[in-house]
Amino acid sequence: MTAGVRTTCAYCGVGCGILARPTGERVAEIKGDPDHPANRGRLCSKGTHLGETIGLEGRLLHPMIGGRRTSWDKALALVARRFAEAIATHGPDSVAFYVSGQLLTEDYYVANKLMKGFIGSANIDTNSRLCMASAVAGHLRAFGEDVVPARYDDLDQADLVLLVGSNTAWCHPVVHQRIMAARAERGTKLVVIDPRRTETCEEADLHLAIRPGSDVALMNGLLTFAREAGLVDEAFLARSVSVPGDFWDRTGKESDLWSVARTCDVAPADLRRLYDLFAAHPRTVTLFSQGINQSLRGTDQVNAVINLHLATGRIGKPGAAPFSITGQPNAMGGREVGGLATSLAAHMDFAPENVARVGRFWAAPNVATKPGLKAVDLFRSVRDGRIKALWVMATNPAASLPDAGMVREALELCPFVVVSDCIADTDTSRYADVKLPAAAWGEKEGTVTNSERMVSRQRAFLPPAGESRPDWWIVAEVGRRMGWKAAFAYDSAADIFREHARLSAYQNEGRRLFDLRDRVALGNHAYDALTPFRWGGDAFADGVFSTDDKKARLVPVEQAPLPVPLANWPMTLNTGRYRDQWHTMTRTGLSPRLGRHRPEPLVEIHPDDARRIGIVEGDLARLSTPQGSSVYRAAISDRQRRGELFAPIHWTDRQSSLGRTGLLTSPSTDPHSGQPGFKRTPARVERLVTEWRGFLVAREPPATTDDMHATHVRVNQGWLVELAGDGDPGRLARRLMPRGDPIDANDPARGRLRAVMVSNGRLAAALQVARDGTLPSRDWLVAQLASETAPPAVELLAGRPAAPVPERGAIVCACFDVGARTMARAIVEHRLESVEAVGQAILAGTNCGSCRPAIRTLIAECGGAALG
Ligand code: SF4
Repeated sequence: MTAGVRTTCAYCGVGCGILARPTGERVAEIKGDPDHPANRGRLCSKGTHLGETIGLEGRLLHPMIGGRRTSWDKALALVARRFAEAIATHGPDSVAFYVSGQLLTEDYYVANKLMKGFIGSANIDTNSRLCMASAVAGHLRAFGEDVVPARYDDLDQADLVLLVGSNTAWCHPVVHQRIMAARAERGTKLVVIDPRRTETCEEADLHLAIRPGSDVALMNGLLTFAREAGLVDEAFLARSVSVPGDFWDRTGKESDLWSVARTCDVAPADLRRLYDLFAAHPRTVTLFSQGINQSLRGTDQVNAVINLHLATGRIGKPGAAPFSITGQPNAMGGREVGGLATSLAAHMDFAPENVARVGRFWAAPNVATKPGLKAVDLFRSVRDGRIKALWVMATNPAASLPDAGMVREALELCPFVVVSDCIADTDTSRYADVKLPAAAWGEKEGTVTNSERMVSRQRAFLPPAGESRPDWWIVAEVGRRMGWKAAFAYDSAADIFREHARLSAYQNEGRRLFDLRDRVALGNHAYDALTPFRWGGDAFADGVFSTDDKKARLVPVEQAPLPVPLANWPMTLNTGRYRDQWHTMTRTGLSPRLGRHRPEPLVEIHPDDARRIGIVEGDLARLSTPQGSSVYRAAISDRQRRGELFAPIHWTDRQSSLGRTGLLTSPSTDPHSGQPGFKRTPARVERLVTEWRGFLVAREPPATTDDMHATHVRVNQGWLVELAGDGDPGRLARRLMPRGDPIDANDPARGRLRAVMVSNGRLAAALQVARDGTLPSRDWLVAQLASETAPPAVELLAGRPAAPVPERGAIVCACFDVGARTMARAIVEHRLESVEAVGQAILAGTNCGSCRPAIRTLIAECGGAALG
């Protein structure tokens, strides 16, 4: 039996290696690759369950024009013609591409070359703009090049890890496990700086729940303390760093302990503890992600972190670095090729000599000479009519961009919209004039770069679905039809990789660290067999940076005034990810196991706010911002700060009429990076009263309508739909149940509606609705969908078996399907006092390990009382 095809995970920027072994038609066994340096065999819950997401369900299988199937030839000809017409009539800046960190580097390279080299505009931007553009801008300001000066090994070697604005336990779980392993082995100290008490805080030595947006004050305070304590590395500064004359004055303003504690709203004693830990542990890694980047001051916040490391010489040494960890699997590859509108190609900007150099290399007479539109501005230009033709590749901006209502308006108004995607029906593709089927993960060949600059192969282990094609092929075919045959004559991803490597080395002469000259002559077989490698080596270990004078720059940044609550919008909305979901759920939403961790979008509210507003756990709550409103289930939690709300980013029109957070977030952006400030949107929340609540379990997804609240989640052999609404619930059975004769047991006087449908001896659907919201547990009815024999109708109508079974509760361990209630019972009954003991008793937490922080929380919550 073969070990499987070596590839990398489809999801986050950790870039875990995977062994995928097909075990049937569109079924594969997925394991962590023990030889991949990023994960050494580990996978999180999302990676572990990739095998559940590779079926044909929901796939776009054929090119479509105006909703009708067509041939590739007709679709490509139409795209080429409409783009050429717009360019001829309105100029190159009248067209745009919006692309994705899901693309492979080879896809990205060809799209960037077509837009910037041949169309002659830089109007290509990527959804990575939403997650790490501030880190890019900060790196450019400090280092002269977008280089992440860290590797995962640094986390193994650090004595102190500062996690800033990063819920690594949920968003980068394998990195989190690596930090935990280092902590267990060598006692690495861990400090989490985050307004929310996330699961990442469970094992931290210190959690500073700072006021959102006060990161610059905190970092400047730490820097000022470091200077006073003699921790500044003067020799390194003299040799390798430019220090502006006003740097220390500006960063030292209001940076005494008491002022910082006040600005950040943390206890001075906690701040002092951070300072002491920093002083005691020169090997410090500061790992940061969206909490730093997704801010209106994101670039300044990034530079505040980098300043601290440069000033204390904690960079370019083992276990010491500022570390921006990326969200998407190939955000870094996009940065390398120039997938951001603000860079040209291969880490070159739009300086005239770079434009001339890239033009020579591509033999392109019409290279873009200035940056293009950044994501939010790009869609504003679409809405304002300046963009006449738009191509969206592998992303869903109608759900994921801030102020998604504006994006939808823009897509509606745009004269010509092309969407290339592997999914047939997304919130964005509903506006497409042309849909082009793209090959999906597991079907395509190429490379990706992870957060530590490591380039790995993604490899195909499945045939392409239907008529789908790799993205690079689709873009190259359009380029050829637009008249640039020779420039886009690629036969394979390997051809493109070699050209990409050649461009990185072309007239480079050490100016840019990004240089793949060792891979220029890679043959096809060697490309197929390529093992993971890191470009840039031990970046900056020699104290030489990519600026003209080879010195890094300290950037004087000051804490901006923090906004005060507004009368109409007294609270602040923060957004982020759930552990088991990815972006807009087009893939993770197909996995029954992943769906049960958080089956509905929740808005988290501090208990004091909830009391004041009159909301209790489980209520529906309407969350409103100046951009729009959406409805969530309320979760009351003191993990939130008072006045702040948290909502997930994942839900879209396809799965829910609830929780569509993209409709709410502010489109304001950081002035340097153009990254939206997703973490702080003025908001308010109120209780939403509906006349009835209910749920449906069904083999087929029912058609719900806009006059009710409905959230779909995939379960084993079917769907679970949570429902709420007003009016007569009696009509629901007709609308939601499959055709046939349901067995029902209605009780209008008590406002109860119950209906079941059994087909061929198996449960096809069961509906439960109650005016008072009293409903049976979902678990047992969901389990009956997978049963070969339906239980008696009386039990199905009751929603429980005659002999009661214990409830499982929300899923904690997705690998072994262990719910919170099952786990709590085990903890109490068996007096389990550690995560390891829970694993031995009920297996939970012994596979991917993503749930280990949650198990720790449960032990603390219910174990203490029972064991004490
Ligand atoms: S941490 Fe999880 S989601 Fe990220 S690459 Fe690894 S397996 Fe995939």
